[in-house]
Amino acid sequence: MPIDWHAIQEKWRKKWEEQKIFDAEPDPSKRKYFVTVAYPYPNSPQHIGHGRTYTLADVHARYMRMQGYNVLFPMGFHYTGTPILAMSRRLAANDEELVDTFTSIYKVPKEKIASFKEPINIARYFHNEIKQGMQEMGYSIDWRREFTTIDDVYTKFISWQFRKLKEKGLVAQGSHPVGWCPNDGNAVGQHDTIGDVEPEFTEYTLIKFELDGYKVPTATLRPETVFGVTNLWINPEAEYVKASVDCENWIISSKCADKLKFLNRNINVQSKLSGKELAGKKFGVPLANRTVTMFPASFVEPGDGTGIVMSVPAHAPYDYQALEDLKQNKSLLSSFSIDNNQLEAVKPIVIIESEGYSGVPALAVINKYKIKTQDDPKLEEATSDIYSHEFYKGKMLDNTMHYAGMNVARAREKVKQDMLDKKLADIMLDLIKPVRCRCGAECVVKLLSDQWFINYLDANWKSLAHDCINSMQLMPDEIKPEFDYTVDWLKERACARKSGLGTKLPWDEDWIIESLSDSVIYMAYYIIAKYVNNGSLRDAQVNDAFFDYVLLGNGNANGVAKSCKISVELLNTIRNEFEYFYPVDSRHSGRDLVPNHLTFFIFNHVEIFPESKWPRQIVVNGSVLMEGKKMSKSFGNIVPLRSAVRDHGADAIRVSILVAAELLQDADFTLDAVRGIRERLERIYDMCVQFTKKDSAKLELEDQWILSKLQHIVENTTNAMDKLRVREALHNIIYSMDQDIHWYLKRATAKERSNDSISGVVRQVLDARVRMLAPFAPFISEEMWEALGNDRSVMLASWPKFDETKVNFVADESETLIINLLADAHNIIKVTKMKPKKVFIYTATSWKWNAYMKALSMVMQGKINFGEIMKQLVSDTSTSKVKETPEIVKRMIDDILSDPLNSRQRKARLEFIDEVQIFEDARSFLGKELDADIAIYREDDSSRVDPKNKAQVARPYRPALYME
Ligand SMILES: [Zn+2]
Repeated sequence: MPIDWHAIQEKWRKKWEEQKIFDAEPDPSKRKYFVTVAYPYPNSPQHIGHGRTYTLADVHARYMRMQGYNVLFPMGFHYTGTPILAMSRRLAANDEELVDTFTSIYKVPKEKIASFKEPINIARYFHNEIKQGMQEMGYSIDWRREFTTIDDVYTKFISWQFRKLKEKGLVAQGSHPVGWCPNDGNAVGQHDTIGDVEPEFTEYTLIKFELDGYKVPTATLRPETVFGVTNLWINPEAEYVKASVDCENWIISSKCADKLKFLNRNINVQSKLSGKELAGKKFGVPLANRTVTMFPASFVEPGDGTGIVMSVPAHAPYDYQALEDLKQNKSLLSSFSIDNNQLEAVKPIVIIESEGYSGVPALAVINKYKIKTQDDPKLEEATSDIYSHEFYKGKMLDNTMHYAGMNVARAREKVKQDMLDKKLADIMLDLIKPVRCRCGAECVVKLLSDQWFINYLDANWKSLAHDCINSMQLMPDEIKPEFDYTVDWLKERACARKSGLGTKLPWDEDWIIESLSDSVIYMAYYIIAKYVNNGSLRDAQVNDAFFDYVLLGNGNANGVAKSCKISVELLNTIRNEFEYFYPVDSRHSGRDLVPNHLTFFIFNHVEIFPESKWPRQIVVNGSVLMEGKKMSKSFGNIVPLRSAVRDHGADAIRVSILVAAELLQDADFTLDAVRGIRERLERIYDMCVQFTKKDSAKLELEDQWILSKLQHIVENTTNAMDKLRVREALHNIIYSMDQDIHWYLKRATAKERSNDSISGVVRQVLDARVRMLAPFAPFISEEMWEALGNDRSVMLASWPKFDETKVNFVADESETLIINLLADAHNIIKVTKMKPKKVFIYTATSWKWNAYMKALSMVMQGKINFGEIMKQLVSDTSTSKVKETPEIVKRMIDDILSDPLNSRQRKARLEFIDEVQIFEDARSFLGKELDADIAIYREDDSSRVDPKNKAQVARPYRPALYME
C-alpha cells in the first residue's frame, strides 16, 4: 500500500503537539541538554541549504532525548538590521529583479507584496513562512519560547547586555574603521554583502617612489622588501590622477583617490592621466640612490591599494612570473616607450636568506608548485607559502643597510616605522578582497569618527575567549584553528547603525544596535521568553535588576521582586529555570558564521557570564549543493524548503540532506537521491507491517548472525552519533542494515523457514533500527513504531544500547565464511564462464588448523617472518607436517596479514570452527545461489570425490573449491 506522507505528517505533528512532547520543563531528576541553532533572519523563505543546519540540530536534539536527556530546543526570529529595510525600499521603487525573486522564486502572492512597503510586514510574512516550514519539517521545537528581536522585553534584555559591556569599558565611541557602502551611506557587515562575505580589511604600508616632485605610493604588506624592488607595475588602461593628499603631491589611481576620502584624507585632484602615460618612466626608490622602470601589467587592479604595485621578483612569486611572462611576450612593450634592454636588465635582487632556500626564493617556490603562467591559481598558495616561511625563518642580507642580520619579523616593523618617520611611507586601510554591498555598490573602508564599537582588541578579553575555545568541544575539531585565528584577528567592531530594526543604544538613542551584536547571548532569553509568552511577565515589570538576578544571581530576591512588582516566587522560578538549562550544551550553525557570529557568541559569553555558564560545544556544518551546483538565484536552482516537503515529504528531505556528507563537506542534494531514500523508507515500513509474530523458536545460525551483527551496527552508529558523523550513522541504518536483512532473508528462505519462524528475530532487528532511524525520519518512524505494536511515541523510547552478551563471534565468522565462499565461487564462474552442475567444497584438515592458530598467534605478537614461523611449526609434532607443504604456510600467513585486525582478534579467540557443519547448514542456500548440487568434504575424508586433487590446497577459513 503506498504511503500517504502528508497524512502521516499531519497525524504525528498533531500527536506530538497534543502530548507536548517537545515542551521542556526543568526536571532536577533528569540531566538536561540545551541545543540551539542560529535563529533565522526572516527576509526570505528557507531553502534546502538552510534545511541542513536546522535538520542537523533537530536530529541532535532528538538523539539526545532518546539518550535520556531533558532536551530544550527553542527557536526565535532575528528581525534586527538593515537588509529588510533595504528590501522594502527596493520593492517600493518597484525593483524588477527583487519583485521577480519574490513572485517567481519565493511565490509570494502579488497582493502581499503591496504591503511590503512597511519593512515589518516583510519580516512578519517570512517569519510565518519559516515557522510553518520548520513545523512541516518536523523540528522538535519548544514553540512556547518563540520571540523576535524587536519584542519589548527582548530590547530591554539587549539594553542590559550593552550597559554591562559599557560598564566594563568594552563599548566605546571613537574614530574607527568600518566596512562601508558609499551608496547607502551605512556600515556593512556580512549580512549586507552579496555572497555574505565579511568585509575584512588590513593596514597596508604605502612606499613612496618619486617622479618629478610627485610621490608615487605603492601598497604592500612587506615593507622590508623595498630593498629588492626591481621595477613598478601599472595598469595601462586604468585612470590615474595627480592630486594633493594632505598637502603632498601624489600620483595614484582615481579609485584610490576616492577611497582615501573615506579615510578622512584631504584630497584635491589636480589632473587626470592614463596608466599608459606612466609606463616606461623611471622612478626614484626611497632609501636607495637608484631608479626603477614602470612596466605595464593588466593584472594590476586600479581599485587595489593605490593602483600601482612595486615589484620584488626575488621574493614575490607573482612578480617573478609576471616578468617571465613579459619576457616571453616582448611585443606587449612595443606600444610603450620601453626597449627590450630595459626589461632584460631587470634581475631579481635577493635580500632575505632563509633555511631551506638558496638562489632566488620566488623561483624555487614557483618550481615547487610547478607554476607556468601568472594566471595559475596556485600562485596564491606559493605566495603565502614563502610569505610565512620568510616571516618566521628569514634573515635580512647585507644589501639591506643597517637592517642586515635582523630577522624579517623585526625588520618589517623597523623599516615601516623608520620610513614613516622620514615621511618616505604612509599607511592605508583597505579591504583584503573586494566586497560588494547588496545594493550593488563596491564597499570601502571608512573611518567613522563618532562610531560606537565593541573593543574585541582587548587582550584580556581575547585570552578569556581562547580559554573558552580550549575548554569546549568543537565539531568537527579541525575547525578549531579558524576560531583561534578569528579571536586573534578581531579588532574593534562597529556595533550600532543609524538605521534599521532593532534596539536603540540605551545611552545614545540616535543609534540602533546592529544584528551581529544583538544576537550573541540571546540563548539565555529563551528561558525568559516562556514567561513573557504565557503572560506572567510584562514589559513594564522588567528592569536591569531583574536580568542581574535571573541571569547572574546578583542582588537580593525580595528587593528585586519588589522593584519589578512581581512575586519572589515567580522571580525564583525563572532564576531556577535559567540555572537548570544554562549553559548552552550545543550551538549549531553554518561554517560561514565562524568568523563573526560564533566567535562573538564566545566573546560575549565569557565576558558577561561566569565560567560555569560558558558554551560547551559548537557544531559547524558545510553548505548544500543542488545537483552538484552551488545554489544561487542566477542558476535558478534554489528550492524552497516548504515546496520540497510538499513534493517529497519531510522525512525523505531530512535524510537526503544529511546522508550526503559529513559535517564540513558540501552536501550534494539530488532529486534522485530523495526518491531513492523515500523508496527505502517505504520498504522498511512494509517490513514492520509484514512481521507480526513476536517470539522466535530456537535460534538458527543465521538468526544468531544477524542479532550479533545488529550489536555491531548499534555500537558503531552510537559512536558515530556521539561525534555527529551523521552520514556514517545513516549509512549504517539504511544501507548496511538493508544488506544484512537481505542476506538474512535469503538464508532463511533457502531453508524454507516460514515468516512466523523468523518474525521474532526480524522484529528485534527492526525494533532497534526504527529507534535509530527516528531522529532522522521522525514521521515514518512513528508509523513503523506503531506497526511494531508500540502505543507510545518512538520519541519516548530510548536509543538502543550495545549489548555485548548478544555478540556471537562464531556466528559472525561462520556467516563471513559463507559470504566469502559464495563470492569465490561466483568469481570462478565468471572467469571460467562455465555453468557448473556440481560444486565441491573441501575444508582444511586438523593439522592445518593447528598450524593456522599457531601462525596467527605469532603474527599477533608481531612475528611475521616466514622462516621463524616455519621453524616453530616444524619443531612441534602436531604441526610438523608443514615440512611437506611449506607453500600452504606461506599462503596462511598471507591470509592472516590481509585480514583486518579486529577479525584476527576474533579468530584468535575462537580457536577452531567446524566448517563442514557451517556449510551443511547453508547447503540449500548455496545450492540455490549457485544453481548446482553441493558436495561438502573434509580434506582428510578418504571417501571424498576429488578428481583434480583440489582438497590439498584447502586452508582454514579458505576452503578449496572444485566445479564440474
Ligand atoms: Zn549599498
